[in-house]
Amino acid sequence: MTGEKHTQVVIVGGGQAGLAVGYHLRRQGLDFVILDADPAPGGAWQHMWDSLHLFSPAEHSSLPGRLMPAQTGTPYPDAGHVVDYLTDYEKRYDLPVQHGSRVEAVRRDADQLLVEADSGTWRARAVISATGTWSRPFLPAVPGRGLFIGRQLHTVDYRSPGDFAGQRVVVVGGGNSGAQIAADLALDGHVEVTWVTQRPPRILPDDIDGRALFDVATARRRALDAGRSDTGGIASLGDIVAVPPVRAARDAGLLDAKPMFTRLTADGVQWSNGTHAEADAVIWCTGFRPALAHLAPLGLRGPRGHIPTVGTRAVGEPRLHLLGYGDWTGPASATLIGVGRPARDAARDIAQSLSG
Ligand code: FAD
Repeated sequence: MTGEKHTQVVIVGGGQAGLAVGYHLRRQGLDFVILDADPAPGGAWQHMWDSLHLFSPAEHSSLPGRLMPAQTGTPYPDAGHVVDYLTDYEKRYDLPVQHGSRVEAVRRDADQLLVEADSGTWRARAVISATGTWSRPFLPAVPGRGLFIGRQLHTVDYRSPGDFAGQRVVVVGGGNSGAQIAADLALDGHVEVTWVTQRPPRILPDDIDGRALFDVATARRRALDAGRSDTGGIASLGDIVAVPPVRAARDAGLLDAKPMFTRLTADGVQWSNGTHAEADAVIWCTGFRPALAHLAPLGLRGPRGHIPTVGTRAVGEPRLHLLGYGDWTGPASATLIGVGRPARDAARDIAQSLSG
């Protein structure tokens, strides 16, 4: 067919995971292209809320080959700093990223994979999917969600407390996003915040930041690799990193969580004992699902919407690798520092397959 382009490897997604594996494919001497739906570099980081800071210091948030520089005035860089770092990374290593190029479908075609993007079609011998989760916000099915006449938002829609001045806001979710957004709103002083969590929130000790979390994840991987019993990993310690705003809100007594309500009403939320709280907005900080719609033609979907993998390689399609997303594609592979190792392994694995 005319207009098709050829390369050895197509990477779908140019966030941190796509860039990290691009770095390693280059070292392997392979020919590749990175197709990224966003018009600008930075992946999900360019869409995060104004006050968001990393939960690890800069030097512990680096991709392979280049340390993230420190940000003046804070050990924990903000999202804008990460966007600058990823923009520089893309340029420095001259990674062939085509921004504004959304992949609609990946199909099998004899011994090649066909990658259909809105910018054109590519033929490749291997595909690495690194599309993250940001574009697939998850909202739980809670009775009355259609009745509520106020605003309903997800983490992906939240920007700053200024958008809610003088309002009553219910924040749902006991993970890092829920705690940080509840803290951000509560510390502002102009928003009446009710924080609601499925189970009592578990804030990690103040001295545990992303560095310690990474060490715990690594120790768990070593234990499992060596056939020892599961150490329980990060989940055994708690769910929420005590970043400075969370600490400040907790210490000011502003982070008292209520249990999950049972339904929404037209003007608020209601608990099982009949208690009702009026609300102008509900912010659902209830997580994400992997963005895998473009892989549907391959028919690989397993339980919980994941595609079964060994390492990063899809069990049902050996020419496909998945990177980022969560621990199921490599320990801590959805973090800046954690994606380097599975990215290196994926690039080596592909180089070996293509040389055969
Ligand atoms: P993304 O950054 O989401 O990039 C995916 C890219 O794929 C995007 O550019 C998108 O445009 C593109 N894409 C999607 N679909 C398609 C398609 N069909 N075709 C083409 N392109 C497509 N990690 C840390 O290390 N430290 C932290 O402190 C930290 N804090 C976090 C705080 C929050 C609130 C969140 C949500 C995450 C945080 N993380 C943190 C986790 C992690 O670093 C991010 O989730 C990271 O963005 C994942 O990178 P990625 O490259 O896998 O996906």
